[in-house]
Amino acid sequence: MAEYRYLIVGGGMTADAACRGIRDHDADGAIGVVAEEEHEPYARPPLSKALWAGKDENSIWRGTPGLGVDLTLGRRIVSLDLGKGTATDEADETYSYERLLLATGGTPRTLPSGDEGVIYYRTLDHFRQLHALAGEGVRVAVIGGGFIGSELAAALTTNGCAVTNVFPEVGIGACLFPAELSVFVNEYYRSKGVDVLPEELVESISRDGDAFRVKTMGGRSVEADAVVAGLGIVPRTDLAEQAGLPVEDGILVDEYGRVQGHENVFAAGDVARFPVPALGGSRRVEHEDHANTHGRHVGANMAGAHEPYDHLPFFYSDLFELGYEAVGDVDSRLDTVVEWAEPNRKGVVCYVDGDSRACGWLLWDVWGKVDSARDLIRARQPVHGEIVRSLID
Ligand SMILES: Cc1cc2nc3c(=O)[nH]c(=O)nc-3n(C[C@H](O)[C@H](O)[C@H](O)COP(=O)(O)OP(=O)(O)OC[C@H]3O[C@@H](n4cnc5c(N)ncnc54)[C@H](O)[C@@H]3O)c2cc1C
Repeated sequence: MAEYRYLIVGGGMTADAACRGIRDHDADGAIGVVAEEEHEPYARPPLSKALWAGKDENSIWRGTPGLGVDLTLGRRIVSLDLGKGTATDEADETYSYERLLLATGGTPRTLPSGDEGVIYYRTLDHFRQLHALAGEGVRVAVIGGGFIGSELAAALTTNGCAVTNVFPEVGIGACLFPAELSVFVNEYYRSKGVDVLPEELVESISRDGDAFRVKTMGGRSVEADAVVAGLGIVPRTDLAEQAGLPVEDGILVDEYGRVQGHENVFAAGDVARFPVPALGGSRRVEHEDHANTHGRHVGANMAGAHEPYDHLPFFYSDLFELGYEAVGDVDSRLDTVVEWAEPNRKGVVCYVDGDSRACGWLLWDVWGKVDSARDLIRARQPVHGEIVRSLID
């Protein structure tokens, strides 16, 4: 049995960051990482952006092996024994730990209908598979108008593919952007050559040899050489649930990343639901900055740092030449205060709570203002147009 002071289940960006957090405080405590994927930890954002723009695949590796970590790749942990302090993988290998971190991330949501051959895009292997298929005139149906769907629609179009983007909302990014901006993004994508089909749910996907036919509830039929879907993720809480750990859309952790009621068990990154004092209540965040920062914090706490996590993570996306950074609760169901320097091209959207206080910011082609936006969330003061405009300048 392999014996570790620190055992990390999962081999994503959070796992890598946690190893760094541990090493900041413990130079030589034995760290074991057990990861289902065959690859050492890598950055996921380039899979829908930089790698399609020609960046070298070697740029994505996080360098985890250089931290003096024992990486076991291609193995899935299938059970935990919290009493004994052990974890067991599907090949019946057992690993013991003094401190355990669950960094199991999320698994892509799938379509309810038949979907053989659909790429539910999340991993490097998915990038390699899609990249090998993509090329001039190749027809790709992209299902989903959120982060992954919109970024892939842009990346594939830029790489010569004939892309149809199908999603049920009124516009691209509609869960985040105000409706008018979201509908503008539809038109912008059309101007770039994407066939955008909003307000369409997929009814069925069938295959005839190598070709796919996607039928929508609204009666549209899309023929494609490949179908790729980005429908969001479901947090991978199965192990935690089996072990009796508290789960509520994510593993419940305190401000140190410790699982409630368990001194030596931690969770971080996409899979963890953590308290956010600046916004009230708890959140689960599926973004790179959070994976890196929460992972590092929680790793440090596993090694005794005892530092509460009060970071407000930011996120970003690229939509052809459009781009943004955002922080806080960015949710189109909230009321907004919107100020444009140039309508739909450059401006700031502030999302407000019932007391008109800023709880989230969308910085649309506005750069370097994330810290100011964070400060305005923490200030808990009502915002008005002038304050919002001040972030554009
Ligand atoms: C294509 C893509 C583009 C993105 N772009 C952006 C972006 O532009 N901006 C942004 O902010 N965020 C972006 N994100 C989100 C960001 O990458 C994630 O928030 C981050 O990767 C989460 O890291 P994680 O380690 O918590 O989870 P994951 O990345 O899901 O890693 C968890 C790992 O654990 C493994 N695992 C799970 N269960 C087990 C088990 N039982 N045993 C062993 N291993 C297990 C999984 O196989 C997986 O490799 C993007 C994500 C994707 C997929």
